Amino acid sequence: MYRKDGDLGIVMKTLIKIPSPLRRFTHQASQVEVEAETVSEAMTRLCELHPDLQLQLFDEQGQLRNFVNIFHDRVDIKQQQGLATALNDGCELRIVPAIAGGIDLLPQLSPQEISRYSRHIMLPELGMEGQQKLKAAKVLIVGAGGLGSPLCFYLVAAGVGTIGLIDHDTVDETNLQRQILFTLDDVGKSKVKCAKERLLALNTDLNITCYPELLSSANALDIIKDYDLVIDGTDNFPTRYLVNDACVLLNKPNIYGSIFRFDGQATVFNYQGGPCYRCLYPEPPPPGLVPSCAEGGVLGVLPALVASIQATEAIKMITGAGTTLSGRLLTYDALGLSFEELSIQRDPQCCLCGSSPTITQLIDYQQFCGIPATPAEVPFKEITARELQQQLTSKEPLILIDVREPYEREICSIAGSRHMPMNSIAEHLDEFSQEQTLVFHCKVGGRSAKVCQLFIDNGFTNVINLRGGILAWIEDVDATLMKY
Ligand SMILES: [Zn+2]
Repeated sequence: MYRKDGDLGIVMKTLIKIPSPLRRFTHQASQVEVEAETVSEAMTRLCELHPDLQLQLFDEQGQLRNFVNIFHDRVDIKQQQGLATALNDGCELRIVPAIAGGIDLLPQLSPQEISRYSRHIMLPELGMEGQQKLKAAKVLIVGAGGLGSPLCFYLVAAGVGTIGLIDHDTVDETNLQRQILFTLDDVGKSKVKCAKERLLALNTDLNITCYPELLSSANALDIIKDYDLVIDGTDNFPTRYLVNDACVLLNKPNIYGSIFRFDGQATVFNYQGGPCYRCLYPEPPPPGLVPSCAEGGVLGVLPALVASIQATEAIKMITGAGTTLSGRLLTYDALGLSFEELSIQRDPQCCLCGSSPTITQLIDYQQFCGIPATPAEVPFKEITARELQQQLTSKEPLILIDVREPYEREICSIAGSRHMPMNSIAEHLDEFSQEQTLVFHCKVGGRSAKVCQLFIDNGFTNVINLRGGILAWIEDVDATLMKY
């Protein structure tokens, strides 16, 4: 065998360049360094490091598959000595598979899978190859709530091979109105744990990875990097910005959906040159301005429609069928039963995806969204439900004011509280005196905090917020009241 250097005992380092279609078999590595004296040895080392590559590159007889070409220092090894071609130290091997079709690089479907997904396979836009692409795909769903429930069901049913699901929460009875992943038996249990059981009952062939934790700046990049695309099913601004920023930094598409009362929105961010969430909203609204679904309510069937649109986009992006919502914001009004489409564009000055970004790493999203890190930062006092109970039973004069809406008060109320809805309270400030101790409460503490601030701004000093609202009261003091 011809050897350029002819020396034995020298460590021969070769850099193997991995093309993008094969990187899912190399943990996304774009190059792998091995020690080898021939192309054959280099490929053996590579497959030892990444065993899933073996079947992609070689057939059962160990022959290099004929749609895979290997170039040694930019020359096809077929024009050299094939797999026996000798390597010199520091040389480069480049694997170049046939891209068009790419079907042979995709996982094969079993006869059961072909039968199971036959209604997909008979669609010319998907076909066998589309179903194989679904099997190869890795999708992360952020949030196992109203949107996450139908998203999980449909993507698992559709045969998406790897699904990640992240949610730190436990199932609450109020979730069951729309979060169809869960049953009464699940109340109090980890959402992702219950979800995994349910989804595996639907389809045992898939990899379902659960993360029973909060997506945070500390873990987001590490979790998201392993997925091809991310579907945002979150219900709060800090996580929404976190998902967006992490997706832009990692260059992953982000399928966005949001729901509130009777209104839904959906689009695709950070995909094929389209905008990101910050191109639309560089900064979040001040805390409390946009109520959450827990405070504002949501129609139970609304997330089904928005999630179905998100799942549709995911399947199209994976299989390459159709055109996506990138650059278009779809809005849905369930009361009027109407859809609208708004054109959205990438902002060249975007602080994240623009030409000279100012955000180049993840930040503290709670702080960014104006949510104080510790309750002590607010200019009024806060008390717990138990502390309130003690004060109510002591002789200390105290006025407890419920700032919720009338329909909420019909469901439950704290005995002895006065009712004054938040929206009309500003007109009644003169009914209160500076000498009184005023304790405000709402459902979870957000609206009453705004009312406390209003009173502080108007010169009141003895203003207290009930932390956690009436839900904390029900939890810690009076479980006979009805939760909502
Ligand atoms: Zn942007």
